[in-house]
Amino acid sequence: MKTITIAKGDGIGPEIMEATLQILKASGVQLKFEEIEVGKEAYLAGFTSGISPAAWKCIRKNKVLLKAPITTPQGKGYKSLNVTLRKTLGLYANIRPCKSLHPYVETKHPIMDLVIVRENEEDLYAGIEHQQTNDVVQCLKLISVPGCEKIIRYAFEYAKANNRKKVTCFTKDNIMKQTDGLFHQMFTEIAKEYPSLKSEHWIVDIGAAKVAETPEDFDVIVMPNLYGDIISDIAAQITGSVGLAGSSNIGENCAMFEAIHGSAPDIAGQNMANPTGLLQGAILMLKHIGEGKAAEQIHNAWSKTIEEGKHTADIYKAGTSKEKLGTKEFAEAIIENL
Ligand code: NAD
Repeated sequence: MKTITIAKGDGIGPEIMEATLQILKASGVQLKFEEIEVGKEAYLAGFTSGISPAAWKCIRKNKVLLKAPITTPQGKGYKSLNVTLRKTLGLYANIRPCKSLHPYVETKHPIMDLVIVRENEEDLYAGIEHQQTNDVVQCLKLISVPGCEKIIRYAFEYAKANNRKKVTCFTKDNIMKQTDGLFHQMFTEIAKEYPSLKSEHWIVDIGAAKVAETPEDFDVIVMPNLYGDIISDIAAQITGSVGLAGSSNIGENCAMFEAIHGSAPDIAGQNMANPTGLLQGAILMLKHIGEGKAAEQIHNAWSKTIEEGKHTADIYKAGTSKEKLGTKEFAEAIIENL
């Protein structure tokens, strides 16, 4: 039986993880779960990355991690646990599908169905940030040929495998001619190997504006780390809520699955959070480990619940929705539909 490492996170993390695990267990899928403590406790114990050696050992042993959101402490001396996990485990591809659920969830974009493929290790997130003088701090942007090649090829292979028609690239190479220029140049080269797929490039500012206005024009979009982080929140939010999107973080040896949103401290502990993002992450995880049938079963039960108008507060709209449910009650409604 496959063992999955789980991290319950903080903020709304424990609530949405509890809901997700209940649904996974009720589906009958044969999995074992091993929990690790990451975040606050580990930071307090002196591990500046927020991850203890025992947690690293567990993650490396099981190779698959289902992680709820974790608050990154503000201030010097703390590293982002999320960035550390992605970099240390070599999780180079962050896949973020964003699809509208029209007519069941209100959105201005009824036919939106796009996938953001975000480079996950380089760019301004490489962690090369330092104090130069008393008055100057610097963060360096790192883009490499192997990094570009891996993520751009991943995007085209993903498009091919998932019957997608077009791959778009976003960069800011009119200004960052060398770094983003390299990303764009590699995109143009690799696109030639996939003649059956359409390819195009947009400067990221107008690209982001187009995603916000006509997301239906996009299919798969590949981009450097920072742009992917920002634009995937926009894309998820315009489907109805940032709480709706899950993501996979894929590497050669390990993979991590999560919601795209953060720990939402403003609604934590109130049984209000939408567990869909983490549940979608879990569905991507089931597909990744070869449990496609369970993934489909859970996806169908979740879809049915959404179609019945049973909605959490973030997507509840009088008229469109039928019933406003808390996190726990929404999970129970999904379980009834399994
Ligand atoms: P956030 O995504 O936590 O919240 C933004 C807004 O969306 C809030 O109003 C929140 O209530 C709402 N929201 C988010 N998820 C929701 C859900 N499932 N259901 C209903 N509403 C939801 O962004 P933030 O407030 O900027 O970040 C909070 C913390 O999370 C920060 O410390 C940040 O570093 C961290 N963070 C962690 C991850 C991760 O663990 N992968 C990702 C992003 C942010």
